[in-house]
Amino acid sequence: MLDGAIVLYPCPGSGHLVSMVELGKLILSNHPSFSISIIIPTAPFETAATHDYIATVSTAIPSITFYHLPSVVLPQNAFFSAKDFPALVYQLGQLNNPNLYETLLAISKRSNIKAFVIDFFCNASFQVSSSLNISTYYYFTSGANNFSYLIYFPKIHRSLNKSLKDLDDMKLEVPGSPSIRAKDMPEITLDRTTYEYRCFVETAFNMTKSSGIIVNSFELFEERACRALANGECAPDDTMPAVYFIGPVVNEKNDGCGKEKHECLSWLDNQPSQSVVFLCFGSMGVFSTKQLKEIAIGLERSGIRFLWVVRTPPPNDETVEKLAETDPSTESFLPEGFLERTKDRGHVVKSWAPQVAVLSHDSVAGFVSHCGWNSVLEAVCAGVPMLAWPLYAEQKMNQTFLVEEMKVALPVKASEEGLVSAAELEKRVTELMEWDKGKAVRERVKAMKEGAAAATSDGGSSRVALAKLAESFKQG
Ligand code: UDP
Repeated sequence: MLDGAIVLYPCPGSGHLVSMVELGKLILSNHPSFSISIIIPTAPFETAATHDYIATVSTAIPSITFYHLPSVVLPQNAFFSAKDFPALVYQLGQLNNPNLYETLLAISKRSNIKAFVIDFFCNASFQVSSSLNISTYYYFTSGANNFSYLIYFPKIHRSLNKSLKDLDDMKLEVPGSPSIRAKDMPEITLDRTTYEYRCFVETAFNMTKSSGIIVNSFELFEERACRALANGECAPDDTMPAVYFIGPVVNEKNDGCGKEKHECLSWLDNQPSQSVVFLCFGSMGVFSTKQLKEIAIGLERSGIRFLWVVRTPPPNDETVEKLAETDPSTESFLPEGFLERTKDRGHVVKSWAPQVAVLSHDSVAGFVSHCGWNSVLEAVCAGVPMLAWPLYAEQKMNQTFLVEEMKVALPVKASEEGLVSAAELEKRVTELMEWDKGKAVRERVKAMKEGAAAATSDGGSSRVALAKLAESFKQG
């Protein structure tokens, strides 16, 4: 007998969207008595890869129904960068509300909606589902330490009369998590006068009024934070709803959507076991030419085998965040002769590599990552230690958590201007791949790999949490 419909509402942006769809697959495979509907907002910056991914899921699992919202006109000419992302998706959420309302109504005429699960960036939709009396859950696509800072943030907000950007080295403290320097908080939290800041605070507020919060992590990986959250210590002035740690939720099939084997995997086949460091910086990571040259020199001097995903620098090389509009060859922004000199032990891939497949390849022994949460979980599931090189969003916090708390990464240190020198990269890559420091994080990440597998096996903490979540859905 069917238990009713679970409607999922992801935020655009591949990292968020894929994670939510994978959550839908997870719910369906463990609790097939629910039907899954996914409402996809149309965003100006979605890529062909995201469309291919949805098409693949929709063909492979016809019992998941996708609804595509019509596109809306964004007020600004949305040139898309990582920095603009939060404001853009918050606006998009608000503009989509009328269409979302109609879609939810239409679904509710066909099935009994038991729960509406929204990405935390889709906070505007909380108002719509509440007005329709639908139980609403938030899905937090990052980790538990991070989530502690979000849900505790209204208290930080009330205790300060200045913006975080003016507090520089002041450290923020949240129960169950390492302290974070004010300036290392996500960009949206730095200036209390902005629209996105208000949305962020309101999200934390609404979350405490929701039916529950789903976090993409597992208890063993973030023990202290999970405990503090479960005890309600992180929302001291509100009632904390149930928090479900159901992760790691990763897209294990992220190998190029079933297309031919990627050439970089064939290259890896020809490298010795556990010899290659992989460098890849998420869906939005882009560097200036100056930074790319430092990376290249550092890799060359280290003598270590590498697989490096390189994106074209922004057209205005002063601003590292803008995505490229032109498409020059990789050679044009790497040091002269670099590709030729390193051809026996290095491989450069333009724009995109099948990261999950790369990380689980036997030749790969280290990962230089921007600390995006999907990348972190994929590395943990593959048992690959990281060099944490944060670029945007919550990634500076993730660096602290990964290095100080979970101990699965070594840090990369940038200059005040944000540049990582060739010497720094050479030193850190060598530490990761060859020194005792690397050995310690390698052993720790292997233990977490086993912990992740146990958490997602029958009776494991994440499966138990998922069963509790399903029970809660049924009460709808
Ligand atoms: N990814 C990939 N190949 C690339 C770059 C990214 O497969 O060349 C995938 C990666 O495996 C991960 C996602 O894109 O699943 C990036 O998500 P993450 O949360 O790490 O970072 P974001 O892109 O959201 O900053």
